[in-house]
Amino acid sequence: MKKLLNAVTIIFCIFLTACTHSDNTAANPAVTEMSETHGNSAEVISSQAVQTTESDLQHSKVNAECGEVKRLLSDFAVESRRVGEAGRDNATKFISDKLKSDGWYVTQQEFPVFRYKDVFSEPYNIGENGEPVGTGINIIAELPDFDSSKPTLILSAHYDTTKENIGIIDNGSGTAFLLSAGKWISKFNGEYNLRLIFFDVEESRMYGSKYYLENLSLEEHSGIIADINFDMLGGNHLSIGTVNGFESALSIYLEQLTGYEYELSDKGSSSDSDPFMYWQIPALTFIDSDLPADPRTFHILIMFQMNRLIPLLYSLLILSTDLTLLNLLLQKAVRL
Ligand SMILES: [Zn+2]
Repeated sequence: MKKLLNAVTIIFCIFLTACTHSDNTAANPAVTEMSETHGNSAEVISSQAVQTTESDLQHSKVNAECGEVKRLLSDFAVESRRVGEAGRDNATKFISDKLKSDGWYVTQQEFPVFRYKDVFSEPYNIGENGEPVGTGINIIAELPDFDSSKPTLILSAHYDTTKENIGIIDNGSGTAFLLSAGKWISKFNGEYNLRLIFFDVEESRMYGSKYYLENLSLEEHSGIIADINFDMLGGNHLSIGTVNGFESALSIYLEQLTGYEYELSDKGSSSDSDPFMYWQIPALTFIDSDLPADPRTFHILIMFQMNRLIPLLYSLLILSTDLTLLNLLLQKAVRL
């Protein structure tokens, strides 16, 4: 265990020094005001047929975002986060407070957890006999101008951990990334709503997301455009996880949007995107398909992933005026 802890500590330290690297890729002036003047930039980008790549973003901007991910990770991924543990409660508070300070309206969805169980049984039963061992908490954030008459795009990441694991990569990385993005996308103003969800109890067969979906009304279900989930970032094999590793209309759409050809993996079936697909809601997980054994490469890798994920989210939100296209593409985006 000590060896393991040492290894984890080394990985963490290298991970935290990761984001200081930069190169001199030419910046695209159209996106230099990413945080500050979203609306103006959107017009410029739209006229350029929205082919955003990593070189489109100023590296100083990406570095700033990367630094924020680093800071959040160092504050957040310091203890295991399981139901019944202080670490989970601390994480719930940390995430909620950060979101509120960035202008989000935050609610916490509580649900009983009867036991952690390793047997997957569709759809939602992790053992509901006996007394609950604790309370799971999904953290849900919406912007103050949330309009229930509009459809909603969900961005998600799970914040719980496996047993005795401080969860830097799984899934401190996805949590910190989404929290970081939450600051600048809080200025989003599109034809649809954004909802950020930090799921609890993913590590017991995605119970938190299953509970969330099971307790939505049919109307609420039909109002969800898609779920884009982040789980385990940090390697150099950033891929799109679908339920079976095959492309979906959603993955094709994101490739068209960003100009990348993403590696596909079947790891979307083992994260919170899977329950969404079960409910026929387009969903995918950005996940590392091959986390490296050598931690010395981490500092390059997290930068690599920021270079793709930040422009991706930015492009997605810029396309808010093109909801018709989005819906068209998503019609066939479920299980293929
Ligand atoms: Zn995970």
